[in-house]
Amino acid sequence: MNRKRYIEPFEPAQIRRLVAEFGSPLLIVDCARVRAQFRALQRALPGVDLHYALKPLPHPAVVQAVAAAGGWLDLATTGEVQLAARLGIDPGRCIHTHPIKRARDINNALAYGVTTFVADNPDEVRKFRAYAGRASLLLRVSFRSPGAICDLSRKFGCDPEQALELARLGARLGIGLRGFSFHVGSQAADAAKHVEAIEACAALLAAARRGRLGQCDTLDIGGGFPIGYDAPATGISRYCAPIRRALARLPRRVRVIAEPGRFIVGPAAIGVATVMGRAQREGHWWYYLDDGIYGSYSGQLYDHARYPVGVLREGVLLPSVLAGPTCDGIDVIAEALQLPKLNIGDLVIGRQMGAYTWATASTFNFFPKATIVVVNRQPGDAGGV
Ligand SMILES: *Cc1c(COP(=O)(O)O)cnc(C)c1O
Repeated sequence: MNRKRYIEPFEPAQIRRLVAEFGSPLLIVDCARVRAQFRALQRALPGVDLHYALKPLPHPAVVQAVAAAGGWLDLATTGEVQLAARLGIDPGRCIHTHPIKRARDINNALAYGVTTFVADNPDEVRKFRAYAGRASLLLRVSFRSPGAICDLSRKFGCDPEQALELARLGARLGIGLRGFSFHVGSQAADAAKHVEAIEACAALLAAARRGRLGQCDTLDIGGGFPIGYDAPATGISRYCAPIRRALARLPRRVRVIAEPGRFIVGPAAIGVATVMGRAQREGHWWYYLDDGIYGSYSGQLYDHARYPVGVLREGVLLPSVLAGPTCDGIDVIAEALQLPKLNIGDLVIGRQMGAYTWATASTFNFFPKATIVVVNRQPGDAGGV
């Protein structure tokens, strides 16, 4: 394999070649697309340090691609800390953002060298009394977000009205206050929630500074930057325009960071599954694939996503159903599809499948998770699987 040449891994010939080499089901991860997504968001949010949130696809190649592109990391669990440590990532470029942590999670992150943590309630702030002088906090504030497809505002974050009280508690205990953070939820139609949250947090930063409650120089605007699934999303630069305007009004000394997950990896991977069998039922062709709702398509349940699916064959379109391999009735990927008649062994491609797919897959019924195949690891690199 020529390792210097860039390949387009989402083209039919390459998909067939990779399945012939690595089997099925596959998740083909294109690091060139990871880098392109990272750069696009960097252009849309100039001056903002982007911490890739590992949760949507915690794969070493993605972490390395982000790091090589100049990115930072958002770690939330001990497993993610261990992955970053194993890859030799500079811990100074990592923050720990889980609002609820066990002592061992804090200790593991500190031992690695991460010093910035997130808290959103008094008990969590008190946990840091033991680490005063060694760790500083971002306080996570919650802004109700009913418009987001994935709303995080109920489970995490304190009310904006409680944030200063929390900051005062931290100051009394001698814990450094870095600033405030929020996550407005994922896949919102526009950036209105981001703007509302930025403005509220700017006021909190100013008040905390006036009250001498700590360094208060960081605003973390979270993740949630959208991608298109069935319909193309608004271009990221247009989506971020109101955010750029809101950030431009912040005092110069405020450092702004973000925690993008989905946007970085969603478009960077496709799922490839194989037809294991087929049957005609009630006027539809049912195709049973070797990947499904309990595997890479788990995001259709957990993440409320609908991945665009297609096949590598042309022909007369017939009403069709794509089902997963398990014996469970809910394991159906898509119904009321129009597809050419497929044969056993044909490939089915799911697009936009990098985020919250493989990461949430299970091995229910002993069907293994898709094999991850990484291409274009380095700029100009075709191999490196
Ligand atoms: C999941 C998560 C993210 C990433 O969110 P996206 O919507 O995928 O961008 C960022 N920060 C925190 C704290 C998260 O839990």
